[in-house]
Amino acid sequence: MRLTKYFLPVTKETPSDAQIVSHKLMLRAGLVRQTAAGIYAWLPLGLRVLRKIEEVVREEQNRAGAVELLMPTLQSADLWRQSGRYDAYGPEMLRIKDRHDREMLYGPTNEEMITSLFRDGVKSYRDLPRTLYHIQWKFRDEVRPRFGVMRGREFLMKDAYSFDIDEAGARQSYYTQLLAYLRTFQRMGIKAVPMKAASGPIGGDLSHEFIVLAPTGESEVFYDSRFEDLDWKATSDDAEALFNQVSSLYAATDETHDETLWKDVPDDRKRQGRGIEVGHIFYFGTKYSASMGMTVQTADGRQVHPEMGSYGVGVSRLVGAIIEASHDENGIIWPESIAPFKVGLINMRADDASCAKAADEIYARLEGAGIETLYDDRDERGGAKFATMDVIGLPWQLIVGPKGLEKGVVELKNRTTGERRELPVDQALVELCAA
Ligand code: ATP
Ligand code: MG
Repeated sequence: MRLTKYFLPVTKETPSDAQIVSHKLMLRAGLVRQTAAGIYAWLPLGLRVLRKIEEVVREEQNRAGAVELLMPTLQSADLWRQSGRYDAYGPEMLRIKDRHDREMLYGPTNEEMITSLFRDGVKSYRDLPRTLYHIQWKFRDEVRPRFGVMRGREFLMKDAYSFDIDEAGARQSYYTQLLAYLRTFQRMGIKAVPMKAASGPIGGDLSHEFIVLAPTGESEVFYDSRFEDLDWKATSDDAEALFNQVSSLYAATDETHDETLWKDVPDDRKRQGRGIEVGHIFYFGTKYSASMGMTVQTADGRQVHPEMGSYGVGVSRLVGAIIEASHDENGIIWPESIAPFKVGLINMRADDASCAKAADEIYARLEGAGIETLYDDRDERGGAKFATMDVIGLPWQLIVGPKGLEKGVVELKNRTTGERRELPVDQALVELCAA
């Protein structure tokens, strides 16, 4: 993509309405703009990141055997009356009337809708277990939207729902999602620790929040440093073993923190700090299947209410959370797997015909090799171009200037380490292809 044809409204000034670094950087780097309190437009660069995160989530859900569908944002109040939640939900729910005076709402979550869809499509134990998910916008009329996309009113969530014939099956579905979550976050280059969360109406140990460590996080967290060393990619597909491993290590938010158990963690492994909730998984038994009258027939002919769980990932919140965890004083540092482009190509002298020609050729070769490249072909000072590239945080910068070209070299900068090296064009391209 040529910057002269793109829409990237980067600003130098730090916006005054932003309190935390990720929000400031998202505005400065031209990723989002607020259009109403807690509601954001995703500008082209921000949208690319959002889509990449979404894709990692989708791939790991599919790999875990979950099946994608898409439910609408608008729902009917009658559906929520079936579970009794329409009156119980409170002011976070945005309630709307259509032209026929029918009560509608902008979905804050989808338990009711998925339960009704599944109820109407499934009759027998043979249709279970199933985990269904979608990635869709939600609306919660938060009292205090803040921190940009981290606590928005409209936000993108992946929500999955599992249906099992009995509790033992539901536990397996839960373990499978736990493993999928750990892999999902690791692929995004962040450490998200699964922490015991307050469990719902039926108690038990099946509720975890996934917390990314960051000083600006809203929750206080306590965890065993062993979580930092675990490699989920290398973990086998034995999700139950993983759950047991996770359960054997201490990790809790302020809501569930237990001083007695904390005392047993060796002092040199105690870690305390703040964190951002990027996901929440939860087993809630037959709460919706019973209240909404969903039954399936078991192998021995009984009618039972399926056991359910729900599994949320804050897709849009992750954009902010990842920046909180990965930036420096010059801007964002995107982990490669979710970077909007892999390479930022800088032509230092757009007014110099031979330099522009060389940069154009390199751009064509990068594109030809399938490397996502943002090409700064604007007629601007070099300093401004460097500042733009640093703030938007692409993993690699390839700098083409007349002095280097005389010697037949370009400069390759690694945004993460800051390392800069001069090397021949061919070699730079080979390295970028391999990186
Ligand atoms: P929180 O405690 O942060 O308000 P929650 O417990 O209400 O979140 P869940 O219902 O568990 O959230 O939703 C699943 C995920 O959706 C959360 O883990 C979070 O990442 C994301 N999320 C929830 N509310 C928001 C919001 N207002 N803006 C952005 N993301 C959100
Ligand atoms: Mg939660």
